[in-house]
Amino acid sequence: MAKKKGLKILYDCDACPAYCCSYARIIVEDKDIARLAKYFGISRKEARRKFTKKGHEPGERILRHRRDDHYGTACRFLDRETRQCTIYKARPGICGDYPGLRKCGYYDFLKFERMLQEDDEFVPTAYNP
Ligand code: SF4
Ligand code: SF4
Repeated sequence: MAKKKGLKILYDCDACPAYCCSYARIIVEDKDIARLAKYFGISRKEARRKFTKKGHEPGERILRHRRDDHYGTACRFLDRETRQCTIYKARPGICGDYPGLRKCGYYDFLKFERMLQEDDEFVPTAYNP
């Protein structure tokens, strides 16, 4: 969801149901938790508990998920209807940095599947409700 100056971006977040927000391991740093705490007017400890959980690596914290119709689960801050981030200004740094290139792998996959299905709104998913 980052923009690179002067380079043509080859993905379109507005045409994507926020595939990247379904990634299970969205790592948050202490500064991200501090930003979330300030945004919601709660303590860092509360923000850490409420919005994050233990990751795979020692000391790692990742964003909590909740159920999602497309992907089974997705970040708890994703609006399930609009597919927009509900805390855009306070989102973790990694969310602002991604994909960090002109291309987005998720978007390439989405485009390919939509071309195969001949359906511009098709959402491929491995999730079977
Ligand atoms: S998966 Fe890629 S195209 Fe889709 S919202 Fe994320 S950055 Fe944008
Ligand atoms: S904080 Fe926002 S941008 Fe980051 S994963 Fe969650 S919904 Fe997506």
